[in-house]
Amino acid sequence: MFQPPRCPHRDCSQHRRPEASFYQRHGRYRPKCRPWPVQRYRCKTCRRTFSRQTFRADYRDHRPDINQAFFLSLATGIGLRQTARNLGLSLSATQAKFKKMARHLRRLNLNLRGKLAPGAILQFDELETFESRRNTRPLSVPILIERETRYIVWAEAAPIRPRGKMTKARRRAIRQEEQRFGPRNDLSGRSVKRTLARGAELAGELPFVVFQSDEKSTYPKLAREAFGNSRLLHVKTNSKLARMSWNPLFPINHTEAMARDSMSRLRRESWLGSKKRRCLDLALNMWMAYRNLVRRRFNYDEESPAQMLGFTDRRLTPGEVLSWRQDWGRESVHPLSRSGVTIARRRAA
Ligand SMILES: [Zn+2]
Repeated sequence: MFQPPRCPHRDCSQHRRPEASFYQRHGRYRPKCRPWPVQRYRCKTCRRTFSRQTFRADYRDHRPDINQAFFLSLATGIGLRQTARNLGLSLSATQAKFKKMARHLRRLNLNLRGKLAPGAILQFDELETFESRRNTRPLSVPILIERETRYIVWAEAAPIRPRGKMTKARRRAIRQEEQRFGPRNDLSGRSVKRTLARGAELAGELPFVVFQSDEKSTYPKLAREAFGNSRLLHVKTNSKLARMSWNPLFPINHTEAMARDSMSRLRRESWLGSKKRRCLDLALNMWMAYRNLVRRRFNYDEESPAQMLGFTDRRLTPGEVLSWRQDWGRESVHPLSRSGVTIARRRAA
């Protein structure tokens, strides 16, 4: 039986520190999108009402029935427009749903993480893609994973300056862009820092942090700053080494290949691409939630990466991933709870 964990109104005293029986039942309503009635409640302190649905991730959705298919479609390599066609949605509805869902999954992924156990090994690399125009607006995407479980700690996109082979036409295009927008910023250093900081959060108080990357000259300093010099073991591998399974960086290379396969916008030689960097970030959030929480590590495994690290009890289904709202941090309802137990309380038990 569901029990509201708090008053959902942020300015109410029962929001932060809810008392045991702060609410009373307040009838039911019949939503248009479901055959069964939904229980309503009234907060005894602020007298405002809410329902079980107020705590759900599909709160206020017009088409909650297609959310699972929507999530699986976008997290496994189908583009926004094809998803819209397949599910019979308009493009603007698809974009709105994509944004809402990706933000929810970002919070879920962050809320469910715990600390890494000793022996965990972090691997790091950057992949390159672009926003809107391939030859003038490149992006760098730093990705940090835990090697054994393939858990994706973090990934985000950052603008970088155009580089590589320059043709006459490309130089001209770059000049034109610079006249319109000014020189393109290089924010990849900032993104790498943020990504490594996510790793440092998970590494917590570990006595040693093993960190593997290629030999890019900026990494040693950034890694020392993130993890602390005294406990860092930085193992570098030449990026010219063939990318086979015996390559020490195979796990991160493999993860990048999977990213390009699962996010249509990263696929090479394709018509698809991200128009804006921020939308690529949203796609990355969706993919991370799928990869960490829903998918098996390898096809012969039963467990997901998050489960192997002890962050969840079992692999989550798409329905569970999209179940409860996650915008109250660890005080949000745990995706595996049916009665409304929060993540913090479930962890403490
Ligand atoms: Zn209240």
